[in-house]
Amino acid sequence: MPNMLYDALFAPLRDRETPLLHTADGGTVSGNAFHAMIHRFATVLASLGLEPGDRLAVQVAKSPEALALYGASVAAGVVFLPLNTAYTAAEVAYFVENSGAKLLIGDDAQARPLKAVADKAGASFLTMNTNGSGSFADIAPRQSDAFEPVDRGPNDLAALLYTSGTTGRSKGAMLSQKNLLSNAETLVKEWRFTGEDVLLHALPIFHTHGLFVASNVVFLSGGSMIFLPSFKVDEVIRLLPKATAMMGVPTFYTRLLDDPRFDRALTGHMRLFTSGSAPLLAETHVAFEARTGHKILERYGMTETNMNTSNPYDGDRRAGTVGFPLPGVELKITDPVTGESLPQGEPGMIEVRGPNVFQGYWQMPDKTKEELRDDGFFITGDIGVIDFDGYVSIVGRQKDLIITGGYNVYPKEIELVFDEHPAVRESAVIGLPHPDFGEAVACVVVPEKGASVSVQELETMMQDRLARFKQPKAIFVIDELPRNTMGKVQKNVLRDLYRDRFK
Ligand code: AMP
Repeated sequence: MPNMLYDALFAPLRDRETPLLHTADGGTVSGNAFHAMIHRFATVLASLGLEPGDRLAVQVAKSPEALALYGASVAAGVVFLPLNTAYTAAEVAYFVENSGAKLLIGDDAQARPLKAVADKAGASFLTMNTNGSGSFADIAPRQSDAFEPVDRGPNDLAALLYTSGTTGRSKGAMLSQKNLLSNAETLVKEWRFTGEDVLLHALPIFHTHGLFVASNVVFLSGGSMIFLPSFKVDEVIRLLPKATAMMGVPTFYTRLLDDPRFDRALTGHMRLFTSGSAPLLAETHVAFEARTGHKILERYGMTETNMNTSNPYDGDRRAGTVGFPLPGVELKITDPVTGESLPQGEPGMIEVRGPNVFQGYWQMPDKTKEELRDDGFFITGDIGVIDFDGYVSIVGRQKDLIITGGYNVYPKEIELVFDEHPAVRESAVIGLPHPDFGEAVACVVVPEKGASVSVQELETMMQDRLARFKQPKAIFVIDELPRNTMGKVQKNVLRDLYRDRFK
């Protein structure tokens, strides 16, 4: 039996002498050097006693070596478990214990607390630093690169990715070889990736976007990537002339638009910009096109499902929508209470089914049963709507739905009204505990750079735009919305900040 993910993504690198990775310092890693690194690392994993199906937890900075750990895991049949580098040792402890990881790899700077975490969980501990050095790398050069990839079936697990878990404990999404490969194949086709492409890669690789969407697409298409440790405007502007495509979260694009050097001349040669992981404001989409002539291609996915929808490569990329279900993905909108399908044009729960949908939550059969139906449809927790042309739009997360005085309020509808005000850069609508209404609608507003915003003016504006029950009972003005590394607005942080407003 072959190892289909290894065979498709990594085996072809063996004979490739051209660069696979371009690093920020002007260096390159060729395909065959990366292939050899994967094989040496896989030999280390096997020699440390990791067997197919065992979990490898890694909390390491983004580097070619860190990416090779993913390839080595696939080759050795080990389940790859990348962790956000911002997690504290106490947080890492949960993931290591919950997953039963056999080996934890972390940075030397955190060696002491992380080793204690590993010891407590009965796991081994090794280090890998930003420059690839550390105790793992010390073992690797002595290893052979003749590792024989192990056999893996399509449903065998390749990765365990924990959801960001802003409510409750985060859950380990089990992703099979087929989940990852089928999605990469679809995206290569849909977004026309070829061996000629050079992807500017500034996303983290502990998340589905940077690890699977971006890296797998490049591995599979035979292209290369400019592999940056993080997103920095100056670096991106400096290196963009060498790229053909870029994948980003919306904040990448708003930050680039804030820089006058980012213009038509700089981007004229680019083939594609994609956006996802958080909503791209229609305003950003429009401003980006006006500045560069490019229409950002917005797509929608999540840890559990890989990518579900995409705006078309050819055809109309519509601002404020996430496009159509990808080939092979079934998407329906259902009543969140009854689970019955809703007619086109009505907002409801987005459910998806297809080879992209995960295998369930690691050792959480009850959670899995709640969210993954017997017929294979996954209840995403996102509220969306399909318009009469078939475009899907995301209205918001179900958990952000506000119930005020018995009425349902979808934050997005109100945010869109506030965002239209010329002095408003963006807004976030939340529900706050209220003695009479249960929850009260509140709106947090960020003014445009250099503008000041009048709360009274906003209150007047909303009078004839929104039904009374939807009108925010409090408007707060702040400089910046709290966001996580993937650019998602952390509404839980805002709810905590203003929780006592109506008490
Ligand atoms: P994660 O599992 O961290 O990738 O988060 C997935 C969630 O991000 C989805 O369930 C959506 O709520 C949100 N998301 C991803 N892409 C988009 C998008 N293009 N527009 C709006 N929300 C998105």
